[in-house]
Amino acid sequence: MLQGKQDKQTLLRQLPSVDNLLQQPQTQELLVDFGRPLTLEALRHMLEISREELLSGVIEQPPSAQQLIGDAGVHLVTMLAPTLYPVVNATGVIIHTNLGRAPLSQAALAAINNVAPTYSTLEYDPGAGERGSRTVHAEQYLKRITGAEAALVVNNNAAAVLLMLTALCRDQEVIISRGQLVEIGGGFRVPDVMAQSGAKLVEVGTTNRTHLRDYEKAISAETAAIMVAHPSNYRVIGFTSEPSLAELAELAEANSIPLLYDQGSGALLDVTPYGLQAEPVVQDELAAGADVIAFSGDKLLGGPQAGILCGREDLIDQLKQHPLARAIRADKLCLSALTATLSHYIKGEALREIPVWRMIARALQDINTEATTWATRLREHGIEATVIDGFSRVGGGSLPGTTLPTKLVAITNENAESVAARLRQASPPVIGRIQEDRLLLDPRTILPHQGDAMMRSLLEICT
Ligand SMILES: *Cc1c(COP(=O)(O)O)cnc(C)c1O
Repeated sequence: MLQGKQDKQTLLRQLPSVDNLLQQPQTQELLVDFGRPLTLEALRHMLEISREELLSGVIEQPPSAQQLIGDAGVHLVTMLAPTLYPVVNATGVIIHTNLGRAPLSQAALAAINNVAPTYSTLEYDPGAGERGSRTVHAEQYLKRITGAEAALVVNNNAAAVLLMLTALCRDQEVIISRGQLVEIGGGFRVPDVMAQSGAKLVEVGTTNRTHLRDYEKAISAETAAIMVAHPSNYRVIGFTSEPSLAELAELAEANSIPLLYDQGSGALLDVTPYGLQAEPVVQDELAAGADVIAFSGDKLLGGPQAGILCGREDLIDQLKQHPLARAIRADKLCLSALTATLSHYIKGEALREIPVWRMIARALQDINTEATTWATRLREHGIEATVIDGFSRVGGGSLPGTTLPTKLVAITNENAESVAARLRQASPPVIGRIQEDRLLLDPRTILPHQGDAMMRSLLEICT
């Protein structure tokens, strides 16, 4: 026993010192790449691990200086590797919240590149040579597209709804249908956001049916607004009824209160030509009489994360002036990408230029051609792959239960779970879905520039 302990002390003494490691030629490279403090930290870390392993008997000989320095290098590279990096979305879910929602258009990307590394006109008016306002940049575009009198961009739609309710309804009553007290996902619950704003929730009607007279009866001197929340990810079907937005707008106007609408998806185009169920379109809902409408920038709008408020000028002005607006304001990267995305709608090129819309509008024939090409290439490499019929989804909490017909590449030669797990770790990672022990890949959501990289990952994993 004593003998063993002495042996171990001898072994520990054979480990190189940190100073010795620092002098080694290979360490100079680490010092250049990572700087002295991090390199020291990593070398000490590797020495500590070696000490523990020697004491516990996991290793019997101390590692060489070369070995320790090599391990320190690997440790530093791993430690500093980004955790946020690109993946190939082969799931067929177009607006995949976990995978970052909408991919940006080329023009949106160029706009960010243009503004990010320099100073800009974010809050500067070069004509006047004085301070300008960051709210002007996207507002012109939004007014033009939606027909609204005014607009404001904030950090996300949850923030937009919170601002709308806080600025316009705090300590007053807001009437909402019980059928709309939903949870959208990612923790956005309509009743919780209303409570957070300090507005008093007045629930009317029932889960499946709410009538105009229910709203009418609830209006009092305390009423600040009628609120409508689009239950994006949720449908009540069967014996259901809700008054139309136009009917509610008329009621609100007759009582001199605003109609506030959380539209959610930011659809600026109609989805029905692609075989999807109707999703409310922002312009139509404003025309129907919504006084303020709130929606996301990175769902069906197809732009960066943002919350957008459009509507009556006097109300939007109140929102702009509220202190909360400052806390949730949009940054220059968001505003540049958003204006570039909006310009696609103005120029009538949204279906061609905005990735989300290109995916929605993509012809089945085109998807089939791509799926067939990939399946053929995979078979040439001995991988069992076929093309089967399937469905893509819009996702992002919009259009539940409505799908787009697609063609899928089905990989069947091995345990699907195991192939899928390895593909998720490939470079680039490929995220597919599993059904009946087959790995399914949907070309609809794979971006054109990612096709080749995906094939490389597949061949590397499967052969
Ligand atoms: C998605 C959604 C939200 C939340 O929007 P974020 O941009 O994710 O903050 C709120 N309301 C509705 C109706 C939605 O669909």
